[in-house]
Amino acid sequence: MTKLPDDIGINTLLAHAGHNPRDFHGFVQPPVVHASTVLFPDAETMLGRKQRYTYGTRGTPTTDALASAVDALEGSAGTVCVPSGLAAVTIPLLTFLSAGDHLLCVDSVYNPTRRFADGLLTRMGIETTYYPPEVGKAIADYMKSNTKVVWTESPGSNTFEMQDIPAICEIAHERNALVMMDNTWATPLYFKPLDFGVDISVHAATKYPGGHSDVLLGLVSANEQCWEQLYDTFLWMGCIAGPDDVYQVQRGLKTMGIRLARHQESALEIARWCEEQRGIEAVLHPALQSHPGHDLWKRDFSGSSGLFSIVLQGEGPSAGAAFLDALKIFGLGYSWGGHESLAVLVNLSDRTVTKTDYRGPVIRLQIGLEDPKDLIADLQRGLDAVRALG
Ligand SMILES: *Cc1c(COP(=O)(O)O)cnc(C)c1O
Repeated sequence: MTKLPDDIGINTLLAHAGHNPRDFHGFVQPPVVHASTVLFPDAETMLGRKQRYTYGTRGTPTTDALASAVDALEGSAGTVCVPSGLAAVTIPLLTFLSAGDHLLCVDSVYNPTRRFADGLLTRMGIETTYYPPEVGKAIADYMKSNTKVVWTESPGSNTFEMQDIPAICEIAHERNALVMMDNTWATPLYFKPLDFGVDISVHAATKYPGGHSDVLLGLVSANEQCWEQLYDTFLWMGCIAGPDDVYQVQRGLKTMGIRLARHQESALEIARWCEEQRGIEAVLHPALQSHPGHDLWKRDFSGSSGLFSIVLQGEGPSAGAAFLDALKIFGLGYSWGGHESLAVLVNLSDRTVTKTDYRGPVIRLQIGLEDPKDLIADLQRGLDAVRALG
């Protein structure tokens, strides 16, 4: 990467980390290298693999540009680029868990992570148990002699519970377990997991780094201790992301700081508006003082992103459906982190130990880059439709 001064701000880092233009004729952006074969100049170089690039599955200047930018953001020893956020979840778990091991997973986890654990990991002889997100130091009570990994995600998917990451890391490390964190919500701009003791940080770059709802990509960043083993498994699995997707995401990083600032500001404005509305039972956003995890968020995080949930007053799915169907700007769709706002009716039936009664339908909102007043007017349409149900 480019040699940058030490004390630069985050937007300067985003603008310059990763690709050094002088490495490729001065062009500002890195080349998009489409490659399987890499040629060697002679037999000796080939037999000794004595050149930086040897085959497409092992990395290219394009993947290196993204990975080194992400290392600069995460403070990690190495980062791999994989074809989806879900692959960024599964690869580190497959790297560090073997038959007979135990995985401790937070109950507010991204649902496909749970499906992977309950499905494939179970079949491989790896047991998973779920713990409540607010557990903190009491994670000790959930650990078994064969617990190898503690999986965290903070704030939790859909309901945004905060976890005491340093406390969990301390206990897990005392017992020789690794801690992995799905950090998609905060991104390394607003929370740096490795600085708080996490061993492996996972990011669905599909979300904010991509930023335009048109690319799937995952990033796994490891500390010094875990990097080599992670990289080996990544090579064994043959799961490198495609060059165009990697390029899109590294390009997205350049503007991610200003996009996130806008997502943050609009989401907070709208969340505070929601708190004032009759018809909304609760607003689940950790940067709000009313949130039970607010103090942890304030202690550890330097910002909040554009995703939070509201709990509607009203009965069950029909109120939720009426709300969604009245929206004209918010799209109804999965994923988030793009420029456009989205709403989904949340299904919490997968929870096993945190069966919170939210007393109404939970709607997750992704606040995009539109003008907040237009989004507020849209939410008002939704609330009016629920009220009209009587
Ligand atoms: C979206 C998401 C993922 C998975 O990302 P994909 O690229 O859609 O596979 C993983 N974790 C969290 C928290 C997510 O929101």
